[in-house]
Amino acid sequence: MIAGVNEFYDIENFAVDWRKKFYGKPLAVMLPRNTNEVSRLISLINRTTNISIVPQGGNTGLAGGGTPNEHGNQVVLSLRRLNEIRTIDFLNRTLIAEAGCSLLNLQKVASEHKLYFPLDFSSRDSASLGGLLATDAGGLSVLKYGTAKDFCLGLEVVLANGEVWHGLRSLRKDNSGYSLKDLFIGSEGTLGIITAASMRLFSPVEKRLTYVAMTVNLSSAIELFGELCSVTQDNVLAFEFMEKNAINLVRRYFPERVPVNFDEHLNSVICIIELSAAFEKNSTSYSSISEAFANNQLCTYYTKCSETMRKTIWQLRESITFASAEDGPQVKNDISLPLSRIPDFVDYITQKLLKVHPHGDFINFGHIGDGNLHFNFAPFFRRMSCKGEIKRQDIVNFLKENEEVIRGMINDAVVLHDGSITAEHGIGKLRKSENHRLKSDVELRIMRTIKNSIDPKNILNPEVLL
Ligand SMILES: Cc1cc2nc3c(=O)[nH]c(=O)nc-3n(C[C@H](O)[C@H](O)[C@H](O)COP(=O)(O)OP(=O)(O)OC[C@H]3O[C@@H](n4cnc5c(N)ncnc54)[C@H](O)[C@@H]3O)c2cc1C
Repeated sequence: MIAGVNEFYDIENFAVDWRKKFYGKPLAVMLPRNTNEVSRLISLINRTTNISIVPQGGNTGLAGGGTPNEHGNQVVLSLRRLNEIRTIDFLNRTLIAEAGCSLLNLQKVASEHKLYFPLDFSSRDSASLGGLLATDAGGLSVLKYGTAKDFCLGLEVVLANGEVWHGLRSLRKDNSGYSLKDLFIGSEGTLGIITAASMRLFSPVEKRLTYVAMTVNLSSAIELFGELCSVTQDNVLAFEFMEKNAINLVRRYFPERVPVNFDEHLNSVICIIELSAAFEKNSTSYSSISEAFANNQLCTYYTKCSETMRKTIWQLRESITFASAEDGPQVKNDISLPLSRIPDFVDYITQKLLKVHPHGDFINFGHIGDGNLHFNFAPFFRRMSCKGEIKRQDIVNFLKENEEVIRGMINDAVVLHDGSITAEHGIGKLRKSENHRLKSDVELRIMRTIKNSIDPKNILNPEVLL
């Protein structure tokens, strides 16, 4: 246990990642209360020790970037006590908040001011503002609002020598040199500690039209997405998809979360689509939306959701990650592809991999409108028709021997189809070796030059990313 002021924390919460894939042994966990304390701690560590620092927010990251190593020579610097909203500027439509504020809290505070913090995903209770920015998180509303970097206007960052960069500007336009904030966003704690950020806010979406649509295959889902973008003039708020195995996985662990009438559609791709209800008032657009759905070349079934159905369908979508966690280890992938290449990629790698591992299968779901697939390979999925048939330890042993090779095959296929090996979860420790293998020498050299110039002693998250 670690004692803070009037608070007690279990050290395991800081030492193990959310998926329980990475186990660390932190030398200590530091819980500063403000930027000044962060600065003093880092300066002291930099001047007097050889230890390194692993910044941590809500510890919900899915790439192992916030977990210390097993050697006891790293300290965790948790930002969770820096959790104040410093200002909200209603006219400027911005807020400045500290790094430890949770996503849920940011959403609530914005809403209390009749504004909207658009980022959203199912770890909202714990994921922190610093973590969102350090991983350039995406999630369920990227189509309209972009990823975290797209609505961050400024940062406050403590550097490796303890100096503070006061870059908390709240300007839409600032063309005064290199965009330094963009250097720190997505840097996974390797370049500086984000202590606060200035973020844009938006008008709340008063009413959404939510549809569930079943398409014959991924190609039709992508075509339907394009069609809806055209008829709504790019006002699709979300376009998510789930394939059969993802639904079956949820059924295995949370059967009550799968609507009964889904059984007859299990061979389809199930899409969740959200549009702004502004289109409902415009009868021409509305009839074009209906026409897009009614095109049975694309869509075999669709329905407009009631509020209850909307909750049910989003709960199902969000349950996939939790069901995966229950199911045991898989080869997790968070890949990004041009939409036009997705069907070829999926056919190509499925055939290739199942030839070698016929008992396995892909759990394919994600943010298809963004070209982002959570394309996870479960090595014994076809043999596991009921819970517990294959022991967790069998999967662990299998993956010890085969995970790197399988990941390598998938990533090679991603590169062949002009994609990226991570869309939103980041490199962390999980994809570090693959990043080295697949990134060009030029890119790696530029990244190392930046790292060396900002953190010459390599004390900030040295085992991550590079
Ligand atoms: C159920 C579930 C669903 C998820 N869905 C999504 C999704 O849809 N989209 C998505 O993008 N992600 C998703 N995630 C991943 C995760 O929630 C996000 O990456 C989130 O942004 C991480 O925030 P965190 O505060 O937990 O960061 P942590 O896990 O604590 O840290 C993540 C990385 O950021 C660094 N870091 C953290 N705070 C700071 C800081 N203040 N300064 C510098 N570096 C820092 C850490 O060193 C680490 O490298 C999901 C996770 C779970 C568990």
